[in-house]
Amino acid sequence: MSFTIQNVLIPVDQGYATVDVQIEGDRIAAISATNLSSSSPSYQGGIRGGEGTVVDGQHKLLLPGFVNAHTHSSEMWQRGIIPPVPLELWLAELYDFVPLDTEQVYLTALGTAVETMLSGGTSVVDHLVLIPGQEIETIAAAIRAYQEIGIRAFIGPLIQDESLTAGIPNGNAKRNHETYIRSTEATLALMQEAVDKFHNPEAGVNILVAPTGIQLCSDALFAGCIELSDRYNLCRHAHLLETAAQKQLAQEKYGYSAVEHLQKIGYLSPRTSLAHCVWLSADDIAILAQTRSTVVHNPLSNLRLGSGIAPILKYRQAGVNVAFGCDGAASNDSQDLLEAIKMGSILHNITDLDYHHWITPRQAVEMASLGGAMGLNVADELGSLTVGKKADLVLYDLTNLSLLPRTDPIGLLVLGRPTNAVDSVWVNGKRVVADSKVTTIDVDALRKELFDRSEWSTNRKSPTIEQIEAHYRSVMGLSEKFQQSYS
Ligand SMILES: [Zn+2]
Repeated sequence: MSFTIQNVLIPVDQGYATVDVQIEGDRIAAISATNLSSSSPSYQGGIRGGEGTVVDGQHKLLLPGFVNAHTHSSEMWQRGIIPPVPLELWLAELYDFVPLDTEQVYLTALGTAVETMLSGGTSVVDHLVLIPGQEIETIAAAIRAYQEIGIRAFIGPLIQDESLTAGIPNGNAKRNHETYIRSTEATLALMQEAVDKFHNPEAGVNILVAPTGIQLCSDALFAGCIELSDRYNLCRHAHLLETAAQKQLAQEKYGYSAVEHLQKIGYLSPRTSLAHCVWLSADDIAILAQTRSTVVHNPLSNLRLGSGIAPILKYRQAGVNVAFGCDGAASNDSQDLLEAIKMGSILHNITDLDYHHWITPRQAVEMASLGGAMGLNVADELGSLTVGKKADLVLYDLTNLSLLPRTDPIGLLVLGRPTNAVDSVWVNGKRVVADSKVTTIDVDALRKELFDRSEWSTNRKSPTIEQIEAHYRSVMGLSEKFQQSYS
């Protein structure tokens, strides 16, 4: 398939240019100026004219697709229901829900992809929660969804080898934890099987090694993941220092910081992306810069769970690459990338009086696209409007009410609240959204399935929270007299 997007606005160094963009197969074949000098160095290739489908780009803005660089798709089944509690209690609540079936996993992978694409995303990093005993089937179900809808998928099966309570610091208490349901060896064998069965970058399906984080994973599990990552050139992903409790836990476990530990065991690298990174010291930040690791900023879940404000401006000043993620829909409680980008940009203005450090809308767009691609080790193929790169593109309708009156298009997109502003999306040269509608799947049928398979629900009680809340409050220095979260 080929497309020519005519008379479309693209950002250039000095403002915007109106160009024709040609897509041939899976690539951007040419970008040529229509009303500016075609000898300008910004433009490369030549439009051969009239080939393939012509798309009217007038009054539209074309940007490289964003990366939803950290999410957990199946959490969509629990969005809007978990009360305002911090991560450690929130996780207990999440794991108290009845395990999903693979069809549910398939449906929310579709839902996650739809919301990601309709808010500017062309790639998703799904840190996928596995159904116990049906791990490979879970991965297959998510991949089936992503292949059908046509989003580029990076799937990190969410693995751990310690049980939930081990993720909370001991403080002065002596505690024993249950053995986790799956051994380290079985988990690594599962990862090997996932790589053998599913890893296929050419088809837009990438497996990542993604131990959940130091809070619930042994060094042996990390070591096995590093070995797999090196053998198959897989990207590495993990949560890192999302909460103050995790910082304290790392001190208890290692006697020094979690970042130092990840560096010591060799997990940090240019193809490692780390979700959250809220509680890092200046030394930790230097380690991330030195190892060229990527931080995935998930501002909405950090606020929702009270985790804190990640020092994103410090990362940028230290030269650490930063991308944006929505995080799972049960802690966001949406998958709107533009919302995450807006919040993740302006949130930091309150952390630094020097407004020269603040994130501009253009910088935010670059973090969401090229920053996302860098974190996945694909910046040579994705993340910018460059001839020869893969055609993962998003076209925004600048006549949309939420983007009017006309001022700066990227300013409107990032600082405003764009509503249904995505006109078209291409992934790997294939048009998967046209006229603001997903073309590859029946979204009305998806709506019906999600509606029919769920029910209105309120006032849930989590037995696990009741068991661990007193210890959590004590170790975090919160008053002993408390009202149970659910009473
Ligand atoms: Zn997460």
